[in-house]
Amino acid sequence: MKIVLSLSLSLFVLLMDVNAQTAAELSEIWEKQHVSNILPSNVRHKDLKSYLDGLKKIGLKVNEAGRSYSNREIYQVEFGSGPLKVFMWSQMHGDEPTATSALIDMFTILQKNRDKDWVKEIESMITIRAVPMLNPDGTDMYLRRNNQGLDINRDALNLKSPEAVLLKRLRDEWSPHIGFNLHNQNALTTAGSSNKQAAISFLVVYGDAEKTASEGHDRNKRLTAAMTQALNNFIPGHIGRYDDGFAPTAFGDNFSAWGTPVILIETGALHGKDEMFLVKMNFVAFLTSLRSLADGSEKILSPSNYELLPNNSSGRLTYFVFRNASIISREKPKEITSGDIAATTDRRRAEFTAPTTIRQIGNLNNLSGLEEYDVSDYYLIGRFQPLKTGSFAEILFYRKNRAVDWTVSDIEKQYPPDAVFSLGKWRKPLPGKESNE
Ligand SMILES: [Zn+2]
Repeated sequence: MKIVLSLSLSLFVLLMDVNAQTAAELSEIWEKQHVSNILPSNVRHKDLKSYLDGLKKIGLKVNEAGRSYSNREIYQVEFGSGPLKVFMWSQMHGDEPTATSALIDMFTILQKNRDKDWVKEIESMITIRAVPMLNPDGTDMYLRRNNQGLDINRDALNLKSPEAVLLKRLRDEWSPHIGFNLHNQNALTTAGSSNKQAAISFLVVYGDAEKTASEGHDRNKRLTAAMTQALNNFIPGHIGRYDDGFAPTAFGDNFSAWGTPVILIETGALHGKDEMFLVKMNFVAFLTSLRSLADGSEKILSPSNYELLPNNSSGRLTYFVFRNASIISREKPKEITSGDIAATTDRRRAEFTAPTTIRQIGNLNNLSGLEEYDVSDYYLIGRFQPLKTGSFAEILFYRKNRAVDWTVSDIEKQYPPDAVFSLGKWRKPLPGKESNE
């Protein structure tokens, strides 16, 4: 009994190590060979075209598959010649860009490593087709919807948008065995009841409201377990499971119903890591699933790594919390509001500065900030407008022991503040917190 136990333990350790090594290898190969060189949120349709020119130059099949509502080209890329058909599409929501760059890196690295055994295996076992950036009009506006104002992912049955018609046609003509539906989710989504950001969330999508299991669904659970295991090497605790309510008009659910079981990957955010890190996480996930499909190792995997993922949750996290604030009204300086201040930053392209807005003032013990500051030693006033819910988090901080005339119009000049928070950054850091910037 003891021998069996220690044998299975060492086998377990061995398996763990092999997987860890694979994930580390994939991360390393991405570091050395990735070609995406623009932060994904800054990528426009013209940038995609130049990425695709690069793919064509190294010999990948890239063809124009159709046009968007505003006549922008939509492309499909292909790799491999195997019997297993894998179809992937990204950015059907224009402001959800991470996976587009990851697909470009995936195709580049597969093509450049065709002499390696693991790539030969993928090439001979799988054919991959992908549409990077299904919604180029939305992408160029950095909006979710297409230029008709339609959410393509709610148009799977009505088919009112040319992008949805195209997506359905590409599936129906080819009948892929697996679909990857690639999105981004809110940066403040948390993994379960923790206050940890869900940097990646998965969902193995059912094809009906009754959640009928199928062979393809079971295989996708094992593939997702493999991806989860790989990503646990980099972002443990930051992986969630997306809500699995059936969405009758969404593509993932209908692809699954039409015979192409879908894996949904939602990229969130991770405080302190930039967008390229999340591209790498996508790349590691894609290649992990392709490798385990190609070498058959997914067949012996347990789905439990997927099944045990904590559900996505929201409402626990915000960008900034200023604890124990004493807010002074400049009109009525004797009226001081006490409480915590929560502020969030809008989602914008990385190249644009986004305003930070006050969402809540009060006792916010149930809320965590990605950044938290104890400001109990200071009086806070609004830089341009009074500090209240809905106003910009443009904040001046004055030590409580200073004598300040709050009513003067050029207060910032006459009484230089001890700290200034503006556009989501410390223009002048809180004394003792200089390292924050
Ligand atoms: Zn989306």
